[in-house]
Amino acid sequence: NTEDIKILLLENVNQTGRDVLTAQGYQVEFLKTSLPEGQLIEKIRDAHVIGIRSKTKLTDKVLREAKNLLVIGCFCIGTNQVDLDYAAKHGIAVFNSPFANSRSVAELVIAEIIALARQLGDRSNELHRGIWNKVSAKCWEIRGKTLGIVGYGHIGSQLSVLAEAMGMSVIYYDILTLMAMGSAKQVPNLDALLQDADFVTLHVPETPETKDMISTKQFEKMKTGSYLINASRGTVVDIPALIEAMRSGKVAGAALDVYPNEPAANGNYFNSQLNQWGEELTSLSNIILTPHIGGSTEEAQRAIGVEVSDALVRYINQGITLGSVNLPEVTMRSITLDEPNHARVIYIHRNVPGVLRKVNEILAEHNVDKQISDSKGDTAYLMADISDVKTDDIKKIHDSLDSLPSRIVTRVLY
Ligand code: NAD
Repeated sequence: NTEDIKILLLENVNQTGRDVLTAQGYQVEFLKTSLPEGQLIEKIRDAHVIGIRSKTKLTDKVLREAKNLLVIGCFCIGTNQVDLDYAAKHGIAVFNSPFANSRSVAELVIAEIIALARQLGDRSNELHRGIWNKVSAKCWEIRGKTLGIVGYGHIGSQLSVLAEAMGMSVIYYDILTLMAMGSAKQVPNLDALLQDADFVTLHVPETPETKDMISTKQFEKMKTGSYLINASRGTVVDIPALIEAMRSGKVAGAALDVYPNEPAANGNYFNSQLNQWGEELTSLSNIILTPHIGGSTEEAQRAIGVEVSDALVRYINQGITLGSVNLPEVTMRSITLDEPNHARVIYIHRNVPGVLRKVNEILAEHNVDKQISDSKGDTAYLMADISDVKTDDIKKIHDSLDSLPSRIVTRVLY
């Protein structure tokens, strides 16, 4: 029953997310802050669902106490605050919201393209110090310039549309062949992009292949007087090589929103021991440095609230794992929970041989309308819709599945 589901929301999860969950009739407890470990352990014992942001650490120690927990919602992008492996092995699904802030990042990049072309950061800094320095040399309109987008995914493709609307020509490079937005053109490799772009902007994920993707060799390929923007991940740009390229005048300006080792909390960053190149970066002209704010807008927070809560509702009510970061993604058409004589069986189990035969022996007496199963690492997820079941059958099915040695979690939705 939906009213039996207990949800604990920590860290001031956005109102939009809370509204989705309360509308379902779940019991929602909402706290503005994260909790110290001891209190977290006390509270999590009862919860079927927990919603967190980046400060709550769900370690194996905490999760071990969470005997009723079905699912974790990370109302943010990252999920490294959760022990994903422990959660998967115990059948606890984890969801996040990787794409709700794409538009916010794309808008920031548009602002940076203009700001770099007009040396806006430097002029503003100068006048903050009382210096009137009116110049037009090497200041440009962006109309007619070429934007090179590296990584044409959620953010890259949004940016493509916005840039064309301002009169830029757009070229892009991606490992996949992707449909162009508007009149943008895909180029066959990174070098082709670098040699033609006036502005190069990076929107690839952090992978071994993208580490130092832009380094000395790539700067050499770029046009003299071009600009570099990185709002993807800090590992993608080789920072000492960027410093060199800016000193030599090859690169006329840069905007960085992400860095190789970002701090966990607000405070002094560049002056800390960790960061050898902070002083050099801050001494360069026409460089915009922002603290990973690409996706930090009210709109993105609202969108994250809705996206994660929708995923939680789909999982609680329907068992659908689409978008889960740690369980196999399994989906079937939505069922109406009160449809008579129907039930949906969810069986999360250890990924070992022979399980499906045993499960199907148990389900064999009933009419299985549809069944799907998939695995990821040590954990497998089976979903089956059965018709012609009576209330008594449901308990029998549940208990039989639950007593199999491979069982991690058994749920029967009806
Ligand atoms: P996405 O997965 O939608 O798109 C990434 C694209 O890069 C895909 O099209 C993929 O095919 C391509 N790609 C992957 N490896 C590549 C390679 N080696 N060479 C060329 N192309 C490659 O991701 P997205 O949502 O557009 O995010 C892009 C980046 O922005 C990610 O690194 C993400 O973490 C980061 N991000 C930053 C902020 C911020 O606040 N600054 C906010 C959101 C996302």
